[in-house]
Amino acid sequence: MPLPAQIDPRKLALASSELAGELPANRLCRLASAEVSIKEPARAIIAFNIDESGFTLMTGSVSLQAAAQCQRCLNDVDICIESEFTLTVMSKENECLWNDKLIDPLIMEKGTLDLHHFLEDELILALPIVSYHETEKCTHNLYKLADISNYCVTRGPFDILSQLKI
Ligand SMILES: [Zn+2]
Repeated sequence: MPLPAQIDPRKLALASSELAGELPANRLCRLASAEVSIKEPARAIIAFNIDESGFTLMTGSVSLQAAAQCQRCLNDVDICIESEFTLTVMSKENECLWNDKLIDPLIMEKGTLDLHHFLEDELILALPIVSYHETEKCTHNLYKLADISNYCVTRGPFDILSQLKI
């Protein structure tokens, strides 16, 4: 089921509602222009509640299966972009009343929120900086180089310390 484009988070929170559904691929234009090829709709689930201070709280997650270019072999690699969020929804007027620094604020200009735009923002923020195939699936022939770098990563500073003691 497609998610509504415009929502009233306050109204949904007063009813302790939950929205679950899909975000059509054609609503993810900004993400598609970030060199990600989108094959299926994104999926999201969002719960709306009123917190103890009376603010609207939005908790949820959004995920998308997509393809990006492997930076090693330059072929497509399947990636999963996922984001979990907890946000306090507020207007510009009541922003000054808010003092919970542990939860990020989501400032709304009007009473309605463009849910599709918001979820696409979350996915863009969760985009991996670079994408690679797993070493054995990558067609690039630098296997050995990748193995060496993995080897270095798994050797922690304590390995070096133990060598010094000998
Ligand atoms: Zn690759």
